[in-house]
Amino acid sequence: MREIKDAGQKPPKKPLIFYYLIALLVLFLLNALVFPSLMSPKVVEVSYNEFLNMIDEGQVKQVALEESSGQLVFLADVSEEGAETAADSGQYGIFKTGIWPDDGQRLLEQLRSDPDIQFTAEIPTQSNPLLSFIMTWILPVFFFILIGELLSRWMMKRMNKQMGGGFGNAMSFGKSGAKVYVEETETGVTFADVAGQEEAKESLKELVDFLHEPEKYAKIGAKLPKGALLVGPPGTGKTLLAKAVAGEAKVPFFSISGSEFVEMFVGMGAAKVRDLFKQANEKAPCIVFIDEIDAIGKKRDAGGLSGNDEREQTLNQLLAEMDGFDARRGVVMLAATNRPESLDSALLRPGRFDRRIPVELPDLAGRIAILKVHAKDVKLGDDVNWDLIARATAGASGAELANIVNEAALRAVRQGRNVVMQEDLEESVETVIAGAQRKNAVVSTSEKKIVSYHEIGHALVAAMQSHSAPVTKITIVPRTSGALGYTMQVDEGEKMLMSRTEIYNKIATLTGGRSAEELIFGKENMTTGASNDIEQATKLARAMITRYGMSDEFDMTAMETVQNQYLGGDTSLTCAPETASKVDAMVTQIIKEAHEKAMKILKENEGKLHELAAYLLEKETITGEEFMKILERSEGQTRE
Ligand code: ADP
Ligand code: MG
Ligand code: ZN
Repeated sequence: MREIKDAGQKPPKKPLIFYYLIALLVLFLLNALVFPSLMSPKVVEVSYNEFLNMIDEGQVKQVALEESSGQLVFLADVSEEGAETAADSGQYGIFKTGIWPDDGQRLLEQLRSDPDIQFTAEIPTQSNPLLSFIMTWILPVFFFILIGELLSRWMMKRMNKQMGGGFGNAMSFGKSGAKVYVEETETGVTFADVAGQEEAKESLKELVDFLHEPEKYAKIGAKLPKGALLVGPPGTGKTLLAKAVAGEAKVPFFSISGSEFVEMFVGMGAAKVRDLFKQANEKAPCIVFIDEIDAIGKKRDAGGLSGNDEREQTLNQLLAEMDGFDARRGVVMLAATNRPESLDSALLRPGRFDRRIPVELPDLAGRIAILKVHAKDVKLGDDVNWDLIARATAGASGAELANIVNEAALRAVRQGRNVVMQEDLEESVETVIAGAQRKNAVVSTSEKKIVSYHEIGHALVAAMQSHSAPVTKITIVPRTSGALGYTMQVDEGEKMLMSRTEIYNKIATLTGGRSAEELIFGKENMTTGASNDIEQATKLARAMITRYGMSDEFDMTAMETVQNQYLGGDTSLTCAPETASKVDAMVTQIIKEAHEKAMKILKENEGKLHELAAYLLEKETITGEEFMKILERSEGQTRE
């Protein structure tokens, strides 16, 4: 515990006795002020004369002689209506009257003989002593304990969050060993909330089924995988799927993030792994889910400095535990990562995470389904066309689609509407792709003119080539991403493969913007507006040669490898420097050719370029249909 204290981690608690004293004080106050009036019935003392009056008015119903005080206790109906509602005992008041001045015996006899007045042995003015003891002492104490317990749990949670699980846990080290704070969640998420991803769901349903009926599998001699690893790009629903499994399985579900094992002190991570599996074994059948497992499952380096001892120990412990538990008892391991290539191969071998469940970016049908799931609680206009939206969002993840639906709803609210229209969705697609509109950005007219020609340049080159996606929208409204305008092209169908011609045409389209600037304003007036086009075109051209085997010279040689398939897909060069310089030359060549092709197309259609650019400058945003209408008007250009 020394290091912890030295690190300035003083226990934040005041002495416990302090709290107990406060509790006791409150208890006394409550007993003195509040409870008496609640607990025992209120007794009113009246004078003897008043008592006689009440008898005369027929209000007195029951009388008893209280032996301890020698007083007369009586129950009287003091309601306005008198006898009619007298059945309701709430209408009675309890009264006491003192020693009567005249002969008591005579009064008592008189009362006895009155048929309206009952004479009883006792009218309780004090409630049951046991009950009152419970109410005034036991119950409040119980309450305090409950509140205290809840409070301390809440504080623990908060502390854990604030300190990233690190120090909060470290403080309990030594007392009770490392603790894993697992959520045994009731997520409320079901498979119905996960759209698309049918294969992944099938795979996971089998696991759930196994947990429900292990005998079915045992009978036939089938062994289920011990663990399943969900892999895929960020935002595709891996965590969501795991939560859905928890929601469906109806067995305890231990969820922990890989980073929670990463500890400051050597050995703590391993202790946590041990603890986790101990708990899981006790609760079997159950599911253990480790999110972002790459945080502990990274490849152990061979040689060199012995890197991160702590991490290695944690991983080793995890591997050992996974071997140790018996899958037949019904502990199923789930893990998720978007960096499968960085995982230690020992984690992936049979008997560990041997089932790999890919959770890929959704296809067209998947995107439609995801949009619909997230629009479930959103009020929609009649004109909403999910198909169009889904086609415009090729490559978007589930998380992005969810965001698009929400942005659209927010936009509808901003515009004072109570339903979401197609235009909201289209605008939010663009917001997600290109950033929000910058309504008050000042762009000078001359710059706007350049941007118009630039964008029409892209659109014209695209339209004049076969095998390129149709233009759906052109705009010169600036975006927060810095783009001064853009041309949107949406493929008609779902594209899995791209042909060489298609890539080539795409590069030509990308050079179309700059080409238009050159053609109209001259080479010396070209602008910086094409930087993003240039980057994209270069990437494509390079990939053609180094990864897609589309050059004659290098044929099907791989010269670049993708480092992480799911995160941006950065590549690293794997060829000799001489080869690299050859590749560079070839990339330049491809781009030059594409640029020339774009120039040629634009020169041939210069009239249309002027006409369309003027139209765009005036309208700022035009649709694909408007574009095609002007393009096909008169002249009748031939398509290549
Ligand atoms: P990750 O794969 O990075 O773990 P998450 O599971 O955290 O992604 O997904 C983030 C959010 O994106 C989810 O909470 C959900 O709203 C949305 N989402 C992602 N994929 C889907 C899907 N297939 N169906 C419905 N919603 C999805
Ligand atoms: Mg996740
Ligand atoms: Zn451009």
